Amino acid sequence: MNIIRNIQEIREHVPKDVKLICVTKFHPEATIMEAYKAGERNFGESRVQELIAKQPNLPDDIRWHFIGHLQTNKIKFIADFVSLIHGVDSLRVLKAINREAEKAGRMIECLLQIHIADEQTKFGLTVNELKALLEDDEFLSLKNVKIAGLMGMATFTDDREQVRGEFRFLKSLFDEIKQNYFSEEESFCELSMGMSEDYKIAIEEGSTMIRIGTAIFGEREY
Ligand SMILES: *Cc1c(COP(=O)(O)O)cnc(C)c1O
Repeated sequence: MNIIRNIQEIREHVPKDVKLICVTKFHPEATIMEAYKAGERNFGESRVQELIAKQPNLPDDIRWHFIGHLQTNKIKFIADFVSLIHGVDSLRVLKAINREAEKAGRMIECLLQIHIADEQTKFGLTVNELKALLEDDEFLSLKNVKIAGLMGMATFTDDREQVRGEFRFLKSLFDEIKQNYFSEEESFCELSMGMSEDYKIAIEEGSTMIRIGTAIFGEREY
């Protein structure tokens, strides 16, 4: 696996204003360091235990993205250092993040995950749930979380047009939500969509953050 070459190849397809999150789950620290030495600073993990085992052994200037499903009882382990939490899909989790962020004396940026795939298994809010959350008084009272945008995962399918349609839907929802709820807030600016198989489509449809594991580091060994 030539990590440096893989990153170079991906970089050729990624505009400068789109952030590349290198997804390092199941990969050891030495592998992560290869991407770091190639200049990458945004890394993503999806399990808290794994993230907190690796983080102390890796450089301080890495921005850690939590991209998995977050259990409320584990937030405290990452609240000190996590840079962005991508998969928030309930007010309950958001309140728990707010609580731990307050204890840590910081503001934690989060993305709200939207259910865009036609699969039962993927997490995420429906459009109505999203709007209800954004209008909830409890949400409006949270001081230590900031909503930096939306995140979504397309259906796992070979049907490129279906994937494109799902990303297009998420982008239009993002624009609508920005206009109606965050028009004064420049910090609502990220649309996290696109993985190894579909990141080129995601970029064409307006992604600002792609989360790539396999295309950089090869297949994961579970
Ligand atoms: C694992 C994972 C990725 C990376 O997937 P690849 O197909 O390996 O690029 C992206 N996003 C999330 C939420 C993940 O869990």
